[in-house]
Amino acid sequence: LCETEIAAEPTPRRASVAVRVGEGAGAVTVGGGAPVVVQSMTNTDTADVDSTVQQVAALAQAGSELVRITVDRDEAAAAVPKIREKLEKMGVNVPLVGDFHYIGHKLLTDYPACAEALAKYRINPGNVGFKEKKDTQFASIVELAIKHDKAVRIGANWGSLDQDMLTELMDENSKAAKPVDARAVMREAMTRSALLSAARAEEIGLKRDRIILSAKVSNVQDLVSVYRMVAARSDYALHLGLTEAGMGSKGIVASSAALGILLQQGIGDTIRVSLTPQPGGDRTLEVQVAQEILQTMGFRTFVPLVAACPGCGRTTSTVFQELARDIQTMIRERMPEWKKVYPGVETLNVAVMGCIVNGPGESKHADIGISLPGTGETPAAPVFIDGKKVKTLRGEGIAREFEKLVTDYVAQRFGG
Ligand code: SF4
Repeated sequence: LCETEIAAEPTPRRASVAVRVGEGAGAVTVGGGAPVVVQSMTNTDTADVDSTVQQVAALAQAGSELVRITVDRDEAAAAVPKIREKLEKMGVNVPLVGDFHYIGHKLLTDYPACAEALAKYRINPGNVGFKEKKDTQFASIVELAIKHDKAVRIGANWGSLDQDMLTELMDENSKAAKPVDARAVMREAMTRSALLSAARAEEIGLKRDRIILSAKVSNVQDLVSVYRMVAARSDYALHLGLTEAGMGSKGIVASSAALGILLQQGIGDTIRVSLTPQPGGDRTLEVQVAQEILQTMGFRTFVPLVAACPGCGRTTSTVFQELARDIQTMIRERMPEWKKVYPGVETLNVAVMGCIVNGPGESKHADIGISLPGTGETPAAPVFIDGKKVKTLRGEGIAREFEKLVTDYVAQRFGG
């Protein structure tokens, strides 16, 4: 063994206070060493009960353990209990989080059934109001959370940073013997703003085990810095998310980079990957990405992931890419059913490889793997199960036959 090896183990999880969100079967624990919770948010108009129910159910089905919905006006607040009721009738008990800005205090007061149906309230002290005259709004939301015994996420945001605090810190910095750059002052302001808001909620009477804190920023380095400071100065359960991450690969990469760094340092109790969907695009992608971040880093397992080589000049046909895609899709589609009957199935490893160079080796490391023939190779695809070659597939039906072998393997290995 190499004596100079530097272990790549993640830092042990930061100790945080456990927060229960929701009641009964759907309740989840955030923090306190519980597995990092995946959450997401709808983009339907909450007043449109049916569309919102449909999207919440789809997000929950995809694996979202908490789903946030916008509660921005009377019609939305009135719809919340109806959404909860419909979801329950469908057997979907995922806790709902209400996202409040500006008039949350009023909506929660005027619609007690909404206040009761939600499992958690998300408030942004930057625009709910935290200072001076607006403090009463922040205080009323916190008081309502205490009354209804709900958790609260206090979510500071770079875009609605406390301007008074920022000005104060800028002044202080300009008079300092060694002033830091303006960005560092902003990071400090963001950190203090989040922590002061949480301290204020505690002063009002909200227990620490009802508080989840977030401090979202859209720049990866700023986010890492702010969360590290919040984590070092408190033991609140932390919600991680890069705000305004963006569309497509940009959003996925930025979120994965930011969340990956923090999770590796033991920071974060629940994550949301905020992706701007393509028009009409599938909202559940953000759940899939969040799960894949946690799974590829080895923190949780959700769905068997198919290992596939990238392909190269030795794979000039598309058979190999199509097979990798079809097997991953098949597994994702069957998982809700498989999970009910095959405990542990999420740990399955499947490999789909493009040619003889790395195909057999990689397939042997998987529970079940196939090495397709590259250009110029004999048109035969050896299949490996538990490290041993068990079969060679040939001809047009390779994809169908391999799919069946995977299904049979799952039943035999996880069927008890
Ligand atoms: Fe190319 Fe074969 Fe390597 Fe796949 S396994 S990348 S096809 S050489």
